[in-house]
Amino acid sequence: MATDLIRMTAADLAELLALGKATSVEITQAHLDRIAAVDDDVHAFLHVDADGALQAARESDARRAAGEAASALDGVPIAVKDVLATRGLPTTCGSRILQGWVPPYDATVVARLRAAGLPILGKTNMDEFAMGSSTEHSAFGPSRNPWDLERIPGGSGGGSSAAVAAYEAPLAIGTDTGGSIRQPAAVTGTIGVKPTYGGVSRYGLVALASSLDQAGPCTRSLLDAAMLHEVIGGHDPLDSTSIDQALPALVEATHEGSLRGVRVGVVRELGGEGYQAGVRARFDDSVALMVEAGAEVVEVSCPHFEYGLGAYYLILPSEASSNLAKFDAMRYGLRVLPDGIEAPSAEQVMTATREMGFGAEVKRRIILGTYALSSGYYDAYYGQAQKVRTLISRDFASAFEQVDVLVSPTAPTTAFKIGEKLDDPIAMYLNDIATIPANLAGVPGVSVPNGLADEDGLPSGLQILAPATADDRLYRVGAAVESLLDASWGGPLLAKAPALGGQA
Ligand code: GLN
Repeated sequence: MATDLIRMTAADLAELLALGKATSVEITQAHLDRIAAVDDDVHAFLHVDADGALQAARESDARRAAGEAASALDGVPIAVKDVLATRGLPTTCGSRILQGWVPPYDATVVARLRAAGLPILGKTNMDEFAMGSSTEHSAFGPSRNPWDLERIPGGSGGGSSAAVAAYEAPLAIGTDTGGSIRQPAAVTGTIGVKPTYGGVSRYGLVALASSLDQAGPCTRSLLDAAMLHEVIGGHDPLDSTSIDQALPALVEATHEGSLRGVRVGVVRELGGEGYQAGVRARFDDSVALMVEAGAEVVEVSCPHFEYGLGAYYLILPSEASSNLAKFDAMRYGLRVLPDGIEAPSAEQVMTATREMGFGAEVKRRIILGTYALSSGYYDAYYGQAQKVRTLISRDFASAFEQVDVLVSPTAPTTAFKIGEKLDDPIAMYLNDIATIPANLAGVPGVSVPNGLADEDGLPSGLQILAPATADDRLYRVGAAVESLLDASWGGPLLAKAPALGGQA
């Protein structure tokens, strides 16, 4: 029974709960047991809150018994990326500088999860301050890919995707600034959705780059993602960039999934050279499948996407250098007193703390951002990058005049080996070549598992992008593709992943 429970989708668990065939305590305990059995290997979690999760589960069961379920997902447990503030639970952002910080408040996303009755299993591992594509930049050691423990589970939200792929949680929250929900989904054979910018509140999300960050669902099915998206999404007066309009009907869209007459644009600039042969082959298969199902597929060109990575690595560090200035040894977490100075000044304490508290990648980006924003260079770097950003938005606008959705491979390669790209920042940055344009333009995107690469037997992802606020299209098209693909394999792709921890 417990093994069955961990392998079910959130929608199926919700149904069991609604029918009274399982309790939230049983479901939550089954996942806590799974975490205990496999997380020493996977290291998806930085912090597990067994007591808190079981307490929330008991309260959920009491609500059900009284006929007062707070939402369809009431009682279904979830894991939360450690970049979201959780009242009473550590929030480190994968950084030493926040070690020991326990927020006195909940992020809006977390508050909405609690209000909807989802027990929070714990906080998931991530690259420090969400900078990275592998979780290797976590100060607390990398997470591992359940498909092959020697490989990365993607990043920065590799912990969330690994937890879902390893059946440690049916649902997780990730955040995506340049691809950190979609790329981990692609390399772990799971679903990851980056909502429209402003569609999910950023209040309490520790900012990496405020104009790019967006929280969203990590799941094993499109329906689960839609259910979760409806819980966390929608207007929030606490976030000034939150869109003040109702979310489209996302769950409904997954049930309407059809490709007949859908105009699909293959982005010419997101494919070809630099993409692993097996990833390209699975992408071509997916496109063929869509054509067979009645989609009208055309190639579209987005000529400025080629400058996306360059613009992103000026805009992101610029915003990050400003956002991370608040970690000054006075307000949160770590405080390091410099050696050999009797009465150190605030500035000396700040320097010693930031020196010790931040890892190499964070320092690299702070330096880059400070430089890009410095007087004399501002126009040449930051200003220029902002112009590129506008051109990329225009590319999207003209592409969406021709087609309903755009598609590409999510990531150029399957999961690489731990250590393989750690010393080569540019190689690491290239993982997000296909996901970054969506963040720069604020449009929503999803990664759907679309098969295993022939050369290494590891999962690849299909990225689907839609116009801003048309998140329902991701679900309509994604669910149709998902059911075609699942039918072609006779079940979810994840069922092909090797067993972990000596058990199913
Ligand atoms: N890998 C990208 C980066 O390092 C994306 C990070 C993210 O989306 N948080 O910036």
